[in-house]
Amino acid sequence: MARVNKVLIVGGGIGGLSLASGLRDRGIEVDLVEVKKEWTVYGVGIIQQCNVIRAMAQLGLMDRVLDAGFAYENMGIYTAAGELVQMLPGARSAGPEYPANLGISRLALHKVLSSTAAERGTTIRLGLTVEHLEQDVDGVDVMFTDGTRGRYDLVVGADGLFSKVRSMVFGKELKPRFTGQSVFRHNFPRPPELDHLMVCYGKNHNAGLCPLSKDLMYMFVTSSEPGNPRVPEDQLADLMRERLAEFGGILGRLREQITDPKQVVYKPMEVIFVPAPWYRGRVVLMGDAAHAMTPHLSQGAGMAVEDAVVLSELLVEDAPLEVLLSRFMQRRYERCKFIVESAIQIGDWEMQGASRADRSGLVKKVMEVIAQPL
Ligand SMILES: Cc1cc2nc3c(=O)[nH]c(=O)nc-3n(C[C@H](O)[C@H](O)[C@H](O)COP(=O)(O)OP(=O)(O)OC[C@H]3O[C@@H](n4cnc5c(N)ncnc54)[C@H](O)[C@@H]3O)c2cc1C
Repeated sequence: MARVNKVLIVGGGIGGLSLASGLRDRGIEVDLVEVKKEWTVYGVGIIQQCNVIRAMAQLGLMDRVLDAGFAYENMGIYTAAGELVQMLPGARSAGPEYPANLGISRLALHKVLSSTAAERGTTIRLGLTVEHLEQDVDGVDVMFTDGTRGRYDLVVGADGLFSKVRSMVFGKELKPRFTGQSVFRHNFPRPPELDHLMVCYGKNHNAGLCPLSKDLMYMFVTSSEPGNPRVPEDQLADLMRERLAEFGGILGRLREQITDPKQVVYKPMEVIFVPAPWYRGRVVLMGDAAHAMTPHLSQGAGMAVEDAVVLSELLVEDAPLEVLLSRFMQRRYERCKFIVESAIQIGDWEMQGASRADRSGLVKKVMEVIAQPL
């Protein structure tokens, strides 16, 4: 018999919502609080690779996600001028019935995840967070910022990079670090030939295009931004065009259409990796709250969804919570550490202008690791 009956999830992002669906499927009562009043999602699109597709399928979410996104198989490597160097086939390791990869807009993914979590019976409250929590051997007493209270068997901090739960329970000194790079992104209508992920290696920047739906794709360009300068919002279009200056082909043509700064999404790359264990008593961290990485491997959300799969499986087991959470660490820590460190390494190589050979070797190793079962 499960000993975890009621869980509080703090944060309704990709990880928290995936976990809510997984736990509800197993009959665990779930309250989820999200600090945003208007449940908008920031950002453009997201890439889900084979391991994430497998994890989403395990949570029973994949069919809906597939309908809302754009399935694709290959990644094309191009020169800055736009000439194809190599087309790398993806691996269908989620099973022959699923594609190797999927691109999806963040908003579309959020709609699928939030509606599924609600349909499966999650109690979702918006515009509030945890004010105070106090745990004893049997549970956690939580006071919320609206003055309401609750008692839970487990509290999950799924509240992202700047996690309040992490700061309250694990210490304020655990803070994200800026890696030295940023990324500019912009949506465009998708032409039919952009049916794969396109990555272009330039001398100073890397850029590319990712399909998100039948009609939509997004462009990204990464750049070194020493000192994490404050970027004036009204200059974002000019700055993105400037970062794309060395690219020809389709990127060069689209560059000229970047004129509205409001359409550009700018994000400095910030990372954190919380030392083991990611739990203190009855409070556990997951997703970016525990292990936020740079986007170079397109695996941050993937690792959050995998956390959700593993926690959902473990929390119905009949064992003391301490044992279950230590099993969570055994299954997650090394895998996440390797992916986080690899993504950071690739970013460091980009900033140093180091050899691409290292990158291909490391990416190959990452692909082998993520293909392994959880
Ligand atoms: C530029 C960029 C591109 C990326 N591209 C990819 C990609 O292609 N593929 C991929 O897999 N990953 C990608 N990632 C990483 C991915 O976005 C994150 O790893 C993922 O969103 C983590 O999910 P999460 O649920 O842990 O956190 P989040 O998605 O950040 O969700 C946290 C949620 O908690 C809420 N919250 C915050 N504080 C509180 C609080 N105190 N109380 C209650 N709620 C709170 C937030 O509002 C939010 O809804 C990218 C990241 C960046 C920066």
